[in-house]
Amino acid sequence: MSIFNLEKISSLILNSHNILIVSHYDPDGDALGSSIGLYKALNKLKKNCYVYNRDKIPDYLSFIKCSNLIDCLSKIPNDIDLIIFVDLNDFERAGSEIEKYMLSFKNNIMVIDHHQNPKIDSKNAFIETSCSATAILIFKIIDHMQIDMDKELATNLLTGIITDTSSFKNSNTNSQSLDIASKLLDFGADLSLINSSIYNDKSIKRINLEKKILSNFLFDNNSKTGFSYCTLQDYEETNTTKEDSEGMANYFLHHMEVMIGVFVREIDDKSWKVSLRSNGYIDLSKLANIFGGGGHKNAAGFKYSGEIEDLRKDLNNKIINEK
Ligand code: 5GP
Ligand code: MN
Repeated sequence: MSIFNLEKISSLILNSHNILIVSHYDPDGDALGSSIGLYKALNKLKKNCYVYNRDKIPDYLSFIKCSNLIDCLSKIPNDIDLIIFVDLNDFERAGSEIEKYMLSFKNNIMVIDHHQNPKIDSKNAFIETSCSATAILIFKIIDHMQIDMDKELATNLLTGIITDTSSFKNSNTNSQSLDIASKLLDFGADLSLINSSIYNDKSIKRINLEKKILSNFLFDNNSKTGFSYCTLQDYEETNTTKEDSEGMANYFLHHMEVMIGVFVREIDDKSWKVSLRSNGYIDLSKLANIFGGGGHKNAAGFKYSGEIEDLRKDLNNKIINEK
């Protein structure tokens, strides 16, 4: 689906002056690379831009810098004339502060995204689910508007592609993502900075957390699901944060028998954040939708309230039904 075309996007951007760019909470490399990359591009057009994210930049992505990054809407002017949402298709993913702000916002809204099953009005959306990362759509906009690419901007966008394809290992990798990654390298994108930041920043405390997560690991042969979780207490006892459990669902998936990797982290008492990863076994965005979440075919997530064992059984049953 792509009702908003590049021409319409360009003219809306060119006709706007104060632009707020918003990406999803718990930001990953694509959310930050795309939103901050777009911010840098629009700055070159002399637009007055702000990037909002409810959460702070995780340490492993601290090389993505933005001078106008805010986590609180009171810091932005009243005269925003365009909000651009990136890497999300459900305003809930931006957080409740933005959802409230939207109730009284009367100007233009644009959504640039690559997730399945949008929960927003499609007339505002530039969505291409065939794109491996939102960063690819940002590249297309920059290219169409003939905005100068530079090393830092190219690095931001390549971070989005590397993150969402897991370094071209996921099945969402295609000739377009390889082609645009190659163009970004030609523009000077710093691949070794991205790789060292994303993959070599692990600490011993992460191993201590992984020990706990692996001791909770269960494989269900009927649903072919590798499942594990950690609690707030586990994070506290190992002096770690949610960043230290990034990638666990993918890690389970990398084992031969596992067709779906599930990692669950506690976010509050009996409230859980679920990450799902697969390689085409079933459509995970559909599975996550059943639980009120969303995502892509091979990477999706949702929030769950209740007992962890009920969640595990519920998931296994729904996976068996979907198969
Ligand atoms: P992750 O497991 O890395 O948090 O998320 C995997 C994918 O699913 C991402 O593309 C993310 O945007 C999407 N996703 C994760 N959690 C949710 C959720 O609660 N709601 C929706 N709509 N999408 C989610
Ligand atoms: Mn993405």
